[in-house]
Amino acid sequence: MASSAPTTHFSLPLGSKQAATTSSSTATPKSTHLSFAPPHALSSHPRTHFRLNPKWGSVSTACPAVRRSMICASSSQVMDPSAPIIEPGVPAIVDVDLGNRSYPIYIGSGLLQKPELLQRHVHGKRVLVVTNETVAPLYLDKVIDALTKGNPNVSVESVILPDGEQYKNMDTLMKVFDKAIESRLDRRCTFVALGGGVIGDMCGFAAAAFLRGVNFIQIPTTVMAQVDSSVGGKTGINHRLGKNLIGAFYQPQCVLIDTDTLSTLPERELASGFGEVIKYGLIRDAEFFEWQEKNMQALMARDPNALAYAIKRSCENKAEVVSLDEKESGLRATLNLGHTFGHAIETGVGYGQWLHGEAVAAGTVMAADMSYRLGWIDDSIVRRVRDILIQAKLPIAPPETMTVDIFKNVMAVDKKVADGLLRLILLKGPLGNCVFTGDYDRKALDDTLNAFCKS
Ligand code: NAD
Repeated sequence: MASSAPTTHFSLPLGSKQAATTSSSTATPKSTHLSFAPPHALSSHPRTHFRLNPKWGSVSTACPAVRRSMICASSSQVMDPSAPIIEPGVPAIVDVDLGNRSYPIYIGSGLLQKPELLQRHVHGKRVLVVTNETVAPLYLDKVIDALTKGNPNVSVESVILPDGEQYKNMDTLMKVFDKAIESRLDRRCTFVALGGGVIGDMCGFAAAAFLRGVNFIQIPTTVMAQVDSSVGGKTGINHRLGKNLIGAFYQPQCVLIDTDTLSTLPERELASGFGEVIKYGLIRDAEFFEWQEKNMQALMARDPNALAYAIKRSCENKAEVVSLDEKESGLRATLNLGHTFGHAIETGVGYGQWLHGEAVAAGTVMAADMSYRLGWIDDSIVRRVRDILIQAKLPIAPPETMTVDIFKNVMAVDKKVADGLLRLILLKGPLGNCVFTGDYDRKALDDTLNAFCKS
């Protein structure tokens, strides 16, 4: 039976801040329907600089050595992955436009060898690098060099945390505070997150809370963190009853993405990150999805240009969504396609057993299945979702240990529950369109859960 929840419908032409303001000011909508203009119809961001090469988006007039692309999904076109979209040491820049909390995302190869990029965002003379036991031996020295080269006044401390989602908790967070307090860091210090999404989320939350907020920089080293978690200021830790339930919105001063760090990433982690890349195509950027269908093999083979393009376009999508709806009053929730089912899998099987992107992939198939049962998409989209995930070597169903009851129990504490109503991100309409809604036939949810679970 369909719920009788009030429904707020609005369409959001991208690039229109006005539309976003109107929509987000609607009192706690139970359901937010979002439809997007196709990328080619998007208006340019007012700060867009002149355009040199349409494949590269817009280019800054201020610094010719830096390609600056504004947060407009139309700024990139489907590329030929052999095109040189980045040159070593020359960052492409995507800006996250949040007024006085705006910040750049630097994307490129060899950026850890460019100390000036990092140093211009360090406040004060004390830095605490937060990393883990896997990433530290690979990149900590490089980051310390980048922070200190030509800058002898800066002193760098580091804290090396145990590696894994199962350590994204209060006990581990305390190790960051222990180090910061023992080192007598003051309010003028800078925290630097060096690692994947787990480190970024924990370091960001620590920066938000330490002395009620200190400067913070993200250096993401996984695909997942480079395309998603390092951008947008969501920080936090898990509770044993649910993922990411304790946290804060806290924006970094900059995000520095050195794509060279992906060379050491295990294949399973690489694929996990593509789960989020695929999401952007499905919820708002059909052209990008079509590009991925043609280029997934190149991405899996770590073709540097394909990777750089996918990271940049993902960051453009994320930056635009975040700039329109920073605190997730509607639009931003659409970034969670597949996550309600996915978080239930991560929690249900135990943190760290399934990677985040793997759980999201299976969750995306479930969301597509439910959307189809509701008659909101045609079966070709369901098939394309499954096909691209298979190409990315990602799971297309939850593990057998997941039961309908486990799904329901965990989903009941999802952050998107409002007044007891579970709101979901579902696909609706042509490829690249979605809705965030609690107004759906409950039978479709039950049918999807029963179809994917043995009991
Ligand atoms: P992760 O941080 O656990 O990193 C994956 C693994 O790769 C770890 O073992 C890590 O040590 C290792 N690693 C990292 N960089 C490496 C490198 N360059 N070479 C070799 N190994 C490397 O996992 P993840 O997938 O990066 O992030 C998942 C986390 O991100 C989850 O906790 C999820 O909730 C969170 N997340 C947050 C947001 C957000 O908006 N804040 C968005 C998406 C995901």
